[in-house]
Amino acid sequence: MLLRHTPKEAAERGALTINPAKTCQPVGAMYAALGVHRCLPHSHGSQGCCAYHRSALTRHYAEPVMASTSSFTEGASVFGGQSNLMESINTIFTLYNPDIIAVNTTCLSEVIGDDLGQIINKAAADNKIPRGKTVMFASTPSFKGSHVTGYANMLAAIVRSFAKTTGKKNGKITLLPSFIEPSDMSEIKRIVSEMGVPYIMYPDTSDVVNGPLDGKFRMYPKGGTPQALIGESGDSRCAFALGRTGTLAAAKLLDTQCKVKTEILDLPIGISATDAFVDTLRKTAGVSVPESLLLERGQLVDVLCDKNQYLYGKKVSLSGDPDILLGLTQFCADAGMKVLHVLTGTPAPGKFAARIKEIAGEGVTVKTGPQADLFCFHQLMQNSRPDLMFGNTYCKYIARDMDIPLIRAGFPIYDRVGHSYFPITGYRGGLHLLVKMLDALMDRQDRDAPEEKFELVM
Ligand code: SF4
Repeated sequence: MLLRHTPKEAAERGALTINPAKTCQPVGAMYAALGVHRCLPHSHGSQGCCAYHRSALTRHYAEPVMASTSSFTEGASVFGGQSNLMESINTIFTLYNPDIIAVNTTCLSEVIGDDLGQIINKAAADNKIPRGKTVMFASTPSFKGSHVTGYANMLAAIVRSFAKTTGKKNGKITLLPSFIEPSDMSEIKRIVSEMGVPYIMYPDTSDVVNGPLDGKFRMYPKGGTPQALIGESGDSRCAFALGRTGTLAAAKLLDTQCKVKTEILDLPIGISATDAFVDTLRKTAGVSVPESLLLERGQLVDVLCDKNQYLYGKKVSLSGDPDILLGLTQFCADAGMKVLHVLTGTPAPGKFAARIKEIAGEGVTVKTGPQADLFCFHQLMQNSRPDLMFGNTYCKYIARDMDIPLIRAGFPIYDRVGHSYFPITGYRGGLHLLVKMLDALMDRQDRDAPEEKFELVM
């Protein structure tokens, strides 16, 4: 049992992180960049960094993830990475012909202090950037923040690089989703389309990292938001940023840069948050909620009521990314579950803990930031045992040690499939999530039931 030595007693830790509940910033930055059509993510650092970022994404999505690297060696570490990046830009446009290169920094290039704005300006002045092509960049030092911070930084870079205003509104609503699965991006688009609301959404990784196997290799898959559409978001009537931590920087920028009124909403995970999202769209666009969505909502409520005895009063502990955790916590609380612990390795603003307590009550333990790691999560659960836990693949060691059912949610998930194809957002996603929770708890009940209590009909 790998984690059997984790002590129950928590010691005060000021600096040490053990089994972080996060991955590094460039992973999130690359993911955001993949949501723009014909954009090639580029990691400005060593080959090892880029190999890790790509493999994290490739393993999670079980799809090839294209990205390039500045390939730092000892020379770049001493003299800076300018010549590596200049050469990379030249080579990438010549060999791979993307429309956009999205450069993210790494720990090393940040420590050296490479000025990416200056390097890219020099590349443009030296005619290394072909006409009509763009090189954008985001600062993503991984010694702070997490993959969600990196996603937020690259999303802000996308707004900075492309959102333009002509002064004439186009009547569309812009949606800026936080770091969620491609299946969730598809589901959010489907809900908005069902409501008949004209929209622009970016980034959009659906049809990029969950594409079909059809025997053809595409360096640039057909998905991803086109650059022109992102440009139009500067003229949208308003914008909704879905999930504060992953979108706040971009939302603020869209507001100040293009004067687009932007509102932060929760990710539509679970009934309450999806209701709020649908209602906001309804009021803003002046449309009514279609029967199809009412039916989906009704089905979710029906299953929740039919099987509530399996959820009510059950204890649950959750780890993951802040924006998703808010939705999951709300959904568990709506189902009558008792939320014991909520933990994220991503630095979340003070409001996050306050929101979680508002939803789940003062008794919930909330941990955020570098020391909110999986070691801490394990210790918390040893002191107060839940019936169910949510977390990424790394939580399977805790689940095995403590014999607690685990629902995989968040990033990364390396040992199961489905997250790319089946959403947890919207009412349909809520039903999918609910079925997973019920399956986990009812399977456990079956497993542990004595012969005379082993029921055919549950
Ligand atoms: S944590 Fe830093 S050094 Fe490690 S892979 Fe990420 S960017 Fe590279």
